[in-house]
Amino acid sequence: MVHSTNRDTDAHQPLTSYQKPLKLEELTWPKVEQYLQKSRKIVWPMGSTEQHGPSGILGIDFLSSLKIAEAVSGLTQVMMAPVLPFGMAVHHMDFAGTMTLTPATYLQVLTELFQSLFKHGFTEIFVINGHGGNIAPITSALSQCKQKEETQVLKLINWWILPEVIAYEKQVFGNENGFHATCGEISVTRYTHPEAYQDVLFERLPLTANAPHWPMSPREFRAHYPAGNMGSQPILSSAEHGEKIFSIATAAIQKIVLP
Ligand SMILES: [Zn+2]
Repeated sequence: MVHSTNRDTDAHQPLTSYQKPLKLEELTWPKVEQYLQKSRKIVWPMGSTEQHGPSGILGIDFLSSLKIAEAVSGLTQVMMAPVLPFGMAVHHMDFAGTMTLTPATYLQVLTELFQSLFKHGFTEIFVINGHGGNIAPITSALSQCKQKEETQVLKLINWWILPEVIAYEKQVFGNENGFHATCGEISVTRYTHPEAYQDVLFERLPLTANAPHWPMSPREFRAHYPAGNMGSQPILSSAEHGEKIFSIATAAIQKIVLP
């Protein structure tokens, strides 16, 4: 496992102790066909590539979903689809590095990829999503598919708002968890990708008022949230909290995927 040499993860082993995830991209088509004889389920991690304030890495939303999905697939041996690292992040485009699809394109991408999975007989898709801006397009894409199809089920799991995750984050971060570049999501990637945070500076960020309206244009967003975060104090984040949140989310999703 990639983190085995890092001192931050040597202390605790959960990331490495899961069974090997069952990844679609590492199988041949006859193996996928064989899998479909016994299960119709697939886990699909998705997120976004977008700014996460001065102390959060751009990949948070898809890296967190990916790592959680790998753990869930390892534990349940339910197959997982390749991560979709791009989503609807138009409002973050005034910050360097953000890559977004427009809502219409993202809806089309999702619809066509859902249809691909449905076509092969995956009738139960568990989307593990890491980004709020994706929720409406994911739901709309399924509505598009459902015009014709009746047997397919999509379970949208927004990992950061699972009740178990909210309860823990409320307890340790209180009102300073925030709504974007939250202490929780930054903690998870400090746990899963500690090397990416080696040179990152954590300091208290200025308070900002809630958004006056939503959605916001890129310029409006940056004018209102100059640091990029929304109401969070990432200085409270840590790899230790990340490990805890990661295992809480994984356990909760495991129960949803294999009740
Ligand atoms: Zn995020």
